Amino acid sequence: MNQKEIEQALENKEIKVYLQPQFDLNSEKLVGAESLVRWQRGAIMVPPSSFIPFCEQTGFITQIDQYVLETVCQHMQKWKQKIPVAVNESRRHLYNPHHVEELEQTIRKYGIEAKYIELEMTETAIVHDIEAAKEAERKVHALGFKVAMDDFGTGYSSFSMLRQIEIDILKIDKSFVDEVTQDKRGKIIIETIISMAKKLKMTTIAEGIETKEQAEYLKTIGCDIAQGYYYALPMAIEEFERRYLA
Ligand code: C2E
Ligand code: CA
Ligand code: CA
Repeated sequence: MNQKEIEQALENKEIKVYLQPQFDLNSEKLVGAESLVRWQRGAIMVPPSSFIPFCEQTGFITQIDQYVLETVCQHMQKWKQKIPVAVNESRRHLYNPHHVEELEQTIRKYGIEAKYIELEMTETAIVHDIEAAKEAERKVHALGFKVAMDDFGTGYSSFSMLRQIEIDILKIDKSFVDEVTQDKRGKIIIETIISMAKKLKMTTIAEGIETKEQAEYLKTIGCDIAQGYYYALPMAIEEFERRYLA
């Protein structure tokens, strides 16, 4: 893959935005969705792991993420049932002083309230330049966006990040969810994360739920929201609208 190919892919609308629904663990009602990008290359659906790292290196990720937000806003504008949608924020954005303005302009263009957009940042992105991350967090919060910490618990300084940055939503990484029905120690850890999150007034989302057992366990320990193949795979926005918002 080279720069030209990926630029053309975006221009030719081969870059697709998928949505994966999120459900309240208690009521099992739809409460949100995460946007995830795909590259439809002919008959092949290229996963983000095959092109996002390249785009992060070249900086082209900025255009991709902007396209994702714009596409999401375009669709949200038509939805009668308002649900929040999460977008992944590459660490590249933290270094771009105009990024927050772009976010604001985009939502304003489509008349979307900031509280319906959740900006997912990973710990690795934040830790890379903590001061820049703090500044970005302050600005987006001032505008009313929600901030989520993605892949929580996979890095080296997850807890220190929580102290320094105000986070609304904690996304508990799949690796913890995987262990939850077998491993006693894993159970203690995830229970503790959830109880801490509650005290810090953060909403908890468990990622990568694949079985009923996992869902039931997470419900008993008070996790708020579930996302994973057990409920639904990421799908094209039109399908998401048909299935959940019709
Ligand atoms: P992520 O943000 O942690 O996204 C969750 C990933 O877990 C998605 O992979 C999703 O399809 C997958 N997943 C969801 N439920 C399950 C499950 O039950 N089991 C398993 N095994 N996997 C599950 P995906 O779509 O391949 O995305 C991979 C990563 O690429 C994302 O991880 C995110 O870091 C990045 N990415 C995706 N879309 C974007 C984007 O628009 N912008 C940026 N900057 N990064 C993106
Ligand atoms: Ca994410
Ligand atoms: Ca994640």
